[in-house]
Amino acid sequence: MKKIQSVRGMKDILPSDCKIYRSIENILMSSAIQFGYKEIRTPLLEDSELFIKSIGDGTDIVDKEMYTFVGSKGNSYSMRPEGTASCVRAIIESGSSNTINKLWYCGPFFRHERPQKGRYRQFHQFGVEFTGVESYEADIEIILLTKYMWEKLKINPKLKINTIGDSEDRKKYTKNLIQYLAKYEKYFEDDDKQKIKKNPLRILDSKKESIKNILIDAPKISNYISKGSALHFEKFVDGLIKNDINYEIDLHLVRGLDYYNRTVFEYIDNTENTQNTICAGGRYDFLFENIFNKKVPALGFAIGIDRLIEFLNYDINYNENIKFYVAVLREEDFAYAQKISGEIRKYSDNFSILVDYSCSNLKAQLKKANKLEANYCIIIGENEAAGDSIQIKNMNSSEQDTIVLNEIGDYIKTKFVL
Ligand code: ATP
Ligand code: MG
Repeated sequence: MKKIQSVRGMKDILPSDCKIYRSIENILMSSAIQFGYKEIRTPLLEDSELFIKSIGDGTDIVDKEMYTFVGSKGNSYSMRPEGTASCVRAIIESGSSNTINKLWYCGPFFRHERPQKGRYRQFHQFGVEFTGVESYEADIEIILLTKYMWEKLKINPKLKINTIGDSEDRKKYTKNLIQYLAKYEKYFEDDDKQKIKKNPLRILDSKKESIKNILIDAPKISNYISKGSALHFEKFVDGLIKNDINYEIDLHLVRGLDYYNRTVFEYIDNTENTQNTICAGGRYDFLFENIFNKKVPALGFAIGIDRLIEFLNYDINYNENIKFYVAVLREEDFAYAQKISGEIRKYSDNFSILVDYSCSNLKAQLKKANKLEANYCIIIGENEAAGDSIQIKNMNSSEQDTIVLNEIGDYIKTKFVL
């Protein structure tokens, strides 16, 4: 019989890792909120057209990475491979495209890639989208937000920036790039040739050494940028300097999605991993127009949470719960134990209370409490139930008190300074 297992490239995040995910997500979320962003949750499934039109034909995502299926009425649906297109659709659909929107999202995304370290078929992103502001100030602010997040996470990834101009600039550049690359045709493999044919800018992003060498003398996009775009970039860079943000201009940085224009950026972790981009983003002033015929300037970024966790050394102070383990010695006292647990739980959201229903002997239950790293063990036996009381044992100091029911509140309040 076939063994049922999790799907390749899609992993369980078990409780011990959830703790890390949750604390990182909390930091990212509270940072975004402090910068005025509001949460949005869009469906995991969208009309395939949304991604084809936004991310673009000829990109890796659309050509080979989407999980797509045809519904009973012949419509094509895709699992979301990224978050921007869905946010744009939601802004249009909710009729809020005339105002400034600052949105954050966090959740799973799906791409059919070859699974390896830092690359999964279901992965997690935290992203923000800032729509309705054309000025370079928004580009600076978005970088300030990332800086704020990295400081809170106590990490220091390297910022790479570039400008890819507007679509007219790119058209001129692409023509010259193709001419240059044609001279080296014999050095390209089939997949590279396909890339050059369908989406030539993507070749700049190649990780192959042979191609990187060919590209050294290739025309640079910076020489094709229009005045407006160049000024936007200049002011953006100036803002970074004024805000003491370190950056490196990388003329080969183009990003893998079609919809970007002007400012693009990435954060790279300092390790030698190939999958080392932990955050990527940029402007997409024409995306709304291309899909929904409405001109709305916008920009955003997405952070790969799985990579953040895998590659970086965290020193996070988890806000640990205070754990109570309730050892019950007789079956008839379970209801009493549940009542007491309910009472104590109400005093603080930070109390975690676990009742043992095994009815095993006290020694065995205390052992389990220890194993679970409980801070306190509440003991309920015949005497306690009869006397409307509990025994509470501090698992660290082994100090043990007997408390009667109507004094539990005072005891908890003084003991835990509530
Ligand atoms: P890469 O060049 O590494 O494939 P990308 O350009 O496809 O990245 P984006 O679409 O910009 O990535 O997504 C933003 C971030 O999401 C990436 O920088 C990365 O941290 C993360 N990410 C993207 N794809 C995956 C994946 N398959 N598994 C894990 N994280 C991913
Ligand atoms: Mg990719």
